[in-house]
Amino acid sequence: MHKRLFIPGPVEVRPEVLQKMAKPMIGHRSKDASALQGRISDKMRVLWSTQHEILLSTSSGSGLMEGAIRSCTARRAAVFSVGAFGKRWFEMAVSNNIPADLYEVEWGKAITPDMIDEALSSGKYDLITVTHNETSTGVMNPVQDIAAVVKNYPEVVYCLDTVSSTGGTPIPVDDLGVDICITSTQKALGLPPGMAICTFSQKAVERAQEVPCRGYYLDLLQLYQYIREKDYQYPSTPSISHMYALDYQLQRILEEGLENRYRRHREMAEYVRNWARQHFAVFADEGYLSDTLTAITNTRNIDVADLNHQLGERGFQISNGYGKLKDKTFRIAHMADHNLEDIKELLGHIEDILQLG
Ligand SMILES: *Cc1c(COP(=O)(O)O)cnc(C)c1O
Repeated sequence: MHKRLFIPGPVEVRPEVLQKMAKPMIGHRSKDASALQGRISDKMRVLWSTQHEILLSTSSGSGLMEGAIRSCTARRAAVFSVGAFGKRWFEMAVSNNIPADLYEVEWGKAITPDMIDEALSSGKYDLITVTHNETSTGVMNPVQDIAAVVKNYPEVVYCLDTVSSTGGTPIPVDDLGVDICITSTQKALGLPPGMAICTFSQKAVERAQEVPCRGYYLDLLQLYQYIREKDYQYPSTPSISHMYALDYQLQRILEEGLENRYRRHREMAEYVRNWARQHFAVFADEGYLSDTLTAITNTRNIDVADLNHQLGERGFQISNGYGKLKDKTFRIAHMADHNLEDIKELLGHIEDILQLG
């Protein structure tokens, strides 16, 4: 039996989206391939309210995270982490020999604009990374407030990880002053895993030109130059199947209407949070709750693996806590193409299994 996924990636993918991946191949040097990548880029620019160029990467989101910090740090990077995915960016810097400092907060808390201001005012940094939506803790960082601070530092390339939020909540890239906004296909966009997408601003282009060793496969400047010089082509062979599905799914998303889509995500999030408050507790700081997933504190000390096993027999799957939060929390993703009815159905089963009154 297929288990319907309520985990924060990969997510349920609509059958008609999956079917797009079964279409016959086209040559990746063809006009059709250029047109396909061009259409995807136009729709991503609408989704992100941006004028920046759009890069595709046949990798998961981590690929573009690594490519961004490596391609665009000329001096030193400041990594702001609120959980496992924030820290991943620091590990990428260290393993690529990129000078970087890690600024961390306790898991469950958010980054404050003051933290960023204090770090940047040292003048040491020319790139920062921020996680918009931390999937390990269910925290959504206050990117509007952060934007107001980052704008005072025009030399800084701003990288934002929106892997688990793009498609589920508004991310107006240009208003936020983000240079490299990164997402993956398998989360709130509602596609199979295997592709990543980012914006690449003029500032990012100019910075990358100053960085001598950008790697090869994940050299974001090379991805950009192929788009500019070869009319939306990709330097190596991309996953054309993902591109078919992405083109189609972005069309669906725009037809649903962005406002409707974000409202649907907010409704699901509010419902899950209220449910969590009634039966357990919400893990993240109340002022910074994610619209795409909820981390729930295991106040009843339930056996999360056993709950998931029993849910599996009913055709559902949720997520245990991430890393050190395993068994102390569990996570319910309410993203991509789920709706409130799906969420109610899932929570009904959990109540039934746990015999919650
Ligand atoms: C899933 C996730 C990642 C990693 O993305 P992959 O596509 O699995 O490489 C990074 N950041 C956040 C916030 C995520 O949720």
